[in-house]
Amino acid sequence: MKRLISLFAACTLCIGVAHAGKLGALLGNDKMLEAGGDAVKGLTMSSAEVSQLSAQSVVQMDKDNTVAPASSQYAKRLARLTKGMEHEDGLDLNFKVYMVKDVNAFATPDGSVRVFAGLMDLMPNDNELMAVIGHEIGHVRKGHSLERFKTTYLTSAARKGAAAAGGNVGALASSQLGALGEAVVKAKFSRGNETEADKYGVDFLLRHNLDPNGAVEAMKKLGGAQKTGLLDSHPASAQRAEALQKYIAGKKR
Ligand SMILES: [Zn+2]
Repeated sequence: MKRLISLFAACTLCIGVAHAGKLGALLGNDKMLEAGGDAVKGLTMSSAEVSQLSAQSVVQMDKDNTVAPASSQYAKRLARLTKGMEHEDGLDLNFKVYMVKDVNAFATPDGSVRVFAGLMDLMPNDNELMAVIGHEIGHVRKGHSLERFKTTYLTSAARKGAAAAGGNVGALASSQLGALGEAVVKAKFSRGNETEADKYGVDFLLRHNLDPNGAVEAMKKLGGAQKTGLLDSHPASAQRAEALQKYIAGKKR
């Protein structure tokens, strides 16, 4: 693992430094530059860099959480449902189950999709579970995850740690990577992003010949679940269920 981080560090550092001056010129704003070299480097992170950083965070989160072994019913179910989706809609995806009770799921810019056992328990219906997974993939496909990861990183202790190491994100301690990942998972998407991901979830179900109404049912269930991670970041579930119904009806016309 440590070698992997070092490997990323080498290229990340290069790109960050190379772009720093360019951004300053683009902004034409001295104050922005005075804000600190670390801030400038952070702002110039390319999509590839953010994606790499997210991959590192996920590696750490996979260590911090209990990943369902391939032999478990949870892992088997997820593997069955996501078979052939390793290259979905232009993304390279990988899927794992976290053996935690929380009702949650997330996907990161690098294409890692993590589904919590609590969500799978809440949704024994495959169409519903796949609606949530499709929704999360939508956040990645539409660039929301990338944006959220970047924003969270720029305001995180992890960025300060990287700045102290000369912008070297590869110097981040595993605890910082894990904390960053958690902060990203907890951060909220805008309502607009959620609407877009909701629609993507329906399209995802249709594309895989699954019942699109699973998206509506999933939304209702999440609305009924109390104090879950998903609910926190997915407000107004009743309204969204209704919007989903309309969207599906429109597709059938
Ligand atoms: Zn969402």
